[in-house]
Amino acid sequence: MPRRLIDDCFLHDKDRLRHAEALGILRDRLGPVVGTETVPLSAALDRLLAAPVTAKQPVPLADNAAVDGYAFSHDAFEASGGVFPIGARIAAGMQGRERLAPGTAARIFTGAPMPEGADTVAMQEDCTVEDGAGPPRVVVPPGLKAGANRRLAGEDVAAGDRLLSPGARLRPHDIAAIASVGQATVEVFRPLRVALISTGDELVRVGGRLEHGQVFDSNSPLLSALLANLPVRATDMGVLADDAALVSDTLAKAAAGCDLVLTSGGASRGDEDHLVSAIDRLGTHHLWQLAIKPGRPMSFGQIGDCAVMSLPGNPVAVFVCFLLYVRPAILALAGGHWPEPAAYSLPAAFEIARKKPDRREFLRATLVREEGLAVAADKFARDGSGLISGLRAADGLVELPEEAVRVAKGDPVRFLPFSEFGIAPRAGV
Ligand code: AMP
Ligand code: MG
Repeated sequence: MPRRLIDDCFLHDKDRLRHAEALGILRDRLGPVVGTETVPLSAALDRLLAAPVTAKQPVPLADNAAVDGYAFSHDAFEASGGVFPIGARIAAGMQGRERLAPGTAARIFTGAPMPEGADTVAMQEDCTVEDGAGPPRVVVPPGLKAGANRRLAGEDVAAGDRLLSPGARLRPHDIAAIASVGQATVEVFRPLRVALISTGDELVRVGGRLEHGQVFDSNSPLLSALLANLPVRATDMGVLADDAALVSDTLAKAAAGCDLVLTSGGASRGDEDHLVSAIDRLGTHHLWQLAIKPGRPMSFGQIGDCAVMSLPGNPVAVFVCFLLYVRPAILALAGGHWPEPAAYSLPAAFEIARKKPDRREFLRATLVREEGLAVAADKFARDGSGLISGLRAADGLVELPEEAVRVAKGDPVRFLPFSEFGIAPRAGV
């Protein structure tokens, strides 16, 4: 199967793209551009599955006891009066199948295979053992249903069940499920190769010294961190000065060895923004004027088989646009399912007297908690899109739809937790 970007996959004919339209273009046109490899389960966490996982055998393999106790035949309960001589002793790990002598019970332990002729287990805490003359006997309490405390073969997974389909992002419990059916390796998509580029004459790499008028490059570390739990192999190409030749050469080099080049800064058509014209010269490029706040515009393009996504320079816009557009695009290019983050409806703890219609707004928002319960969403007081402090104070984003023109306190709003994007919760709450 050839794995390539489709031609001009970022083309559109809109002056302004609505959020849903932008997502629609990415979802419909992006697919896996990477090959596959086989990895052991120890290296499979967070990887994207490339081939289905089907159970070759049932889990559990055999009927077994769910508790420590005594196994008996439910049919024999009445005739025995609930008193059984104790015959076999069956521990977990015993192989082969024991046979229960009629009218007896077996001492059995959690996970031990049920003996033939027994279908029910009484918990040891509910039983008394009579140790007189002759073999010991167990008194089983009345009232147990047939099959109580017994796990059936195949009750977790039946042989032939499909456990996982291609595109699944492997979670710890998925890996447990794959191990439980005896599969030691999985076929996954190779990591997407991503190059990071920051642009701007005013930028200085951390570790350097800041002169008046300069800022440290915080976008590269931000993007590296956002990429860290995605199935990618990221290369940080550093900070580029606003120099047409340098930008062009670096882009060409990055595109030759990568599946995606991700840039920040210089994404619009300002005088000093050479990025857009460089992408134009090297390949194709489309400006996406997104009808959202914060964040427009973004540029999407392709240089050969490499996708190029250019984020604005402001750290808040970088963060939000990454979560909303770049992250799902990366998952799609890397072979994953299109992610659908779950939003929660919460009452607003803030008000907005006037909101511009026709654009979707994503506000940095903090959860209001009462005894651990999230009861409302509040908004960060200051709006500036350069404020990393506003991001750090937030637990997620409140998403106001295009048609909203005001928000009153108590109005239900959509709250999108950052955890839906794989980000750890804020500490110290
Ligand atoms: P630009 O999109 O290039 O016009 O940049 C918009 C704003 O974001 C400017 O204030 C830049 O200084 C700032 N900015 C751009 N790139 C970075 C970066 N890598 N780290 C921190 N701030 C940046
Ligand atoms: Mg700039």
